[in-house]
Amino acid sequence: MTVEKCCELCGDHIPIAWRNGTLKKPSKIRKSRFCSKSCSTSSQARPVMARLWEMINKKEPEECWPWLGRPDRYGYGVLKVQGKVQKAHRYALQFKLERPLLTDVLVLHSCHNPICCNPAHLREGTHQENMDDKRLYGRQPRGETHGRAKLTSSQVQEIRKFYIQGSFSQDSLGIRYGVAQSVISGIVNRKIWKDDR
Ligand SMILES: [Zn+2]
Ligand SMILES: [Zn+2]
Repeated sequence: MTVEKCCELCGDHIPIAWRNGTLKKPSKIRKSRFCSKSCSTSSQARPVMARLWEMINKKEPEECWPWLGRPDRYGYGVLKVQGKVQKAHRYALQFKLERPLLTDVLVLHSCHNPICCNPAHLREGTHQENMDDKRLYGRQPRGETHGRAKLTSSQVQEIRKFYIQGSFSQDSLGIRYGVAQSVISGIVNRKIWKDDR
C-alpha cells in the first residue's frame, strides 16, 4: 500500500522511493515532512498551506472564497512556490484531499469562478470533463438574453465593482440583482456586456 503525502513547504509529492529505487516504508513517508533536502533546510520559509490559507477570503461555507492575491491572465489566483508561479486553487483542493494531485489532473470549479479557492467548489477532473463543462456552461450566457434585458448598464458596472471588492459572491450578487449566477459570472469575466466599463 502506498502512502501519498505533500511536502509541508512546497506542497509537492514526497517521493515514495529512495534514490536507489526501493520503496520507502509507508510509516517512513507518514513521518516525512518535506519532499527534498532543499525544502527541509529552508525551514524558515513559511509552509505553502499556511501562506495559501491566509490569502483566501473565507466566507460562508457555500459561497465562493476569492483569492486575495494576484490573478493570472485567465483569472486564476496564483502564488509563488519555490520560485515557480503556481495556481492557488490546486493547493486549496490538495489541502482538502490531504494528498498531492497528479500533475496531469485538472482541478475543476463547480462554481465556474476561476478566482474561487473554496475547497468545496473544487474537484479533480479529466480534460474531457473540463471540455464538457465548458461546453455546457458556455451555452448558458449566450442564450441568456433575458439576463441582459433585465439589467441596466449602471447595474453591470455596480456588479463588477462589488465583485472586484470581494465583498459579494456571484451567487449573492445573482440574488441581489435577480439574475442567474451564470449571468453574474459572464459579467465579471467580461463574456457578456463586454463593452460596458
Ligand atoms: Zn518540497
Ligand atoms: Zn466557488
